[in-house]
Amino acid sequence: MAERFWEQKSLANMSEAEWELLCDGCAKCCLHKLEDEQSGEVFYTKVVCRYMDEQCRCTEYQQRHVLVPNCVWLKPEDVKQFHWLPQSCAYRLIAEGKPLAAWHPLVSGDTESVHRAGISIQGRALSEEYVHPDGMEEHIIHWVE
Ligand code: SF4
Ligand code: SF4
Repeated sequence: MAERFWEQKSLANMSEAEWELLCDGCAKCCLHKLEDEQSGEVFYTKVVCRYMDEQCRCTEYQQRHVLVPNCVWLKPEDVKQFHWLPQSCAYRLIAEGKPLAAWHPLVSGDTESVHRAGISIQGRALSEEYVHPDGMEEHIIHWVE
């Protein structure tokens, strides 16, 4: 694997391993989102998928697309649709030609740095198990942009 590969390669040219490493582990993409049908604007809620644990890891990673049909599956060919991802998301940053921040695990060398920097959802999300599907609007948040 090339050193600082994310600065040298486009998303389309990354290996599968590099692509996986690019994820910062923030888990924001596992939050439920609401879309305004008319404007297309996306609103994040603090309600998270039931398979997310407190360390911001998916407990069903291998089976996620079977268990959760709308589980996010990012692919390089969908790069033009990445605008709905959080501004901090590494895939969106690279797609927009921007650098990774100092708290990104690839830069810091520490998987915990994303949590210490307050970027991840750790400690501030609510499992969907406790929320009625019709009550999502009450949980719209503004800390994901
Ligand atoms: S928002 Fe982006 S960086 Fe964060 S967990 Fe999802 S894919 Fe990974
Ligand atoms: S199943 Fe998908 S949406 Fe749910 S926690 Fe795992 S990766 Fe996130």
